[in-house]
Amino acid sequence: MSKIKMLTPLVELDGDEMTRVLWPLIKEKLIQPFIELKTEYYDLGIKHRDETDDQVTIDAANAIKRYRVGVKNATITPNRERVEEYSLKQQWKSPNGTIRAMLDGTVFRKPILVNNIKPMIKSWSKPIIVGRHAYGDVYKNAEIRTETGGKAEIIFTDNEGKEIRETIMELDGPGILQGMHNTDESIRSFATACFEYALDEKVDCWFATKDTISKKYDQTFKLIFEDIFENEYRDKFEAAGIAFFYTLIDDVVARMMKTKGGMLWACKNYDGDVMSDMVASAFGSLAMMSSVLVSPHGYFEYEAAHGTVQRHYYKHLKGEKTSTNAVALIFAWSGALRKRGELDGISDLVTFSDRLEKSVVETIESGFMTGDLAAICDEEAVEILDSVQFLEKVADQLSQ
Ligand code: NAP
Ligand code: MG
Repeated sequence: MSKIKMLTPLVELDGDEMTRVLWPLIKEKLIQPFIELKTEYYDLGIKHRDETDDQVTIDAANAIKRYRVGVKNATITPNRERVEEYSLKQQWKSPNGTIRAMLDGTVFRKPILVNNIKPMIKSWSKPIIVGRHAYGDVYKNAEIRTETGGKAEIIFTDNEGKEIRETIMELDGPGILQGMHNTDESIRSFATACFEYALDEKVDCWFATKDTISKKYDQTFKLIFEDIFENEYRDKFEAAGIAFFYTLIDDVVARMMKTKGGMLWACKNYDGDVMSDMVASAFGSLAMMSSVLVSPHGYFEYEAAHGTVQRHYYKHLKGEKTSTNAVALIFAWSGALRKRGELDGISDLVTFSDRLEKSVVETIESGFMTGDLAAICDEEAVEILDSVQFLEKVADQLSQ
């Protein structure tokens, strides 16, 4: 059988620890036997980020802007312990944060369903995709804690020096204050990315805020979504047979529990942070979640939703076998290869990506899985495989 040829390289962003151990094995066992893999490789491992003063992260994001599709491994976001562990020059920023800021994206997370692991919510038979706005709000705020009473105000000074001033509260005693922002431009990108994703996946798009209480802040989100939908997407949605639904955030949470799933749930930054973890855990595990950053400029970065699985890595370093689940990493590769195939018009690449994902699902459904899944699987007679055995089982399935 001749291997599938690629036209344009994928931007490959390698990472750290256990996921760095799995990364080349996935390529060797599941991709290179079938594809003449072309990538432009960037080593975002913590040591190389440190050596390059994090320039490699910026170079990698620029490469994604050039080639449009990247696949990223999980990376360490250093805290104080990591600075010591790896003798780092400084506590480098989160690579995901740097890349998101450069590509201006929305992160879409979608559970990977298998028939022998049932979601905690019985009615959920189709995946709920969470689209998280990854800019602003409480993640870029200013806060004050005051030990005395006083007048709390919010002041905006425009470029001509004119002030707008609002009283928040006259405080009688100690308290807390918070100021945050978002921009029309970023909210428009968020809405566009969500509508594009819903069209691409042919699923309804649900969006919710608390605009009854937040009459300017949340209201702006609502109005921008409605404006973009009416002017740019209503016809396209109707043609695709999908719908846009807006409601309040508390209403959407209550309704979501009673649906079958199968929609994109567009979330403001904080809602997305919280709800994506709830959805992931209700569907099973972070290792059974695909994740893609979609930029309104047409760039795509595929990744796993979980981290570097540090505890397993330390076992691996001691020479012990680990049962680390590579499913999310495999889906990062299949997602990126499929998108490359679509952009370059290589249908074999698209078909291969579908087959790879199908092989993963079939392997698990026939009872072969890693320990994390065995623990939540309905069946008793499952075989728990180590990290490498699982990849080999998927490879067998793929070759059939
Ligand atoms: P984590 O790597 O996601 O792991 C947390 C725990 O979840 C693991 O200890 C493991 O549980 C389980 N787990 C996660 N992925 C698994 C998999 N593929 N297979 C089996 N079990 C899995 O999160 P963390 O320990 O909080 O973070 C570790 C490092 O990852 C940190 O340095 C953090 O900065 C980084 N991180 C990176 C990203 C990213 O690049 N996207 C995201 C999150 C965190 P058991 O140990 O109980 O088996
Ligand atoms: Mg979270």
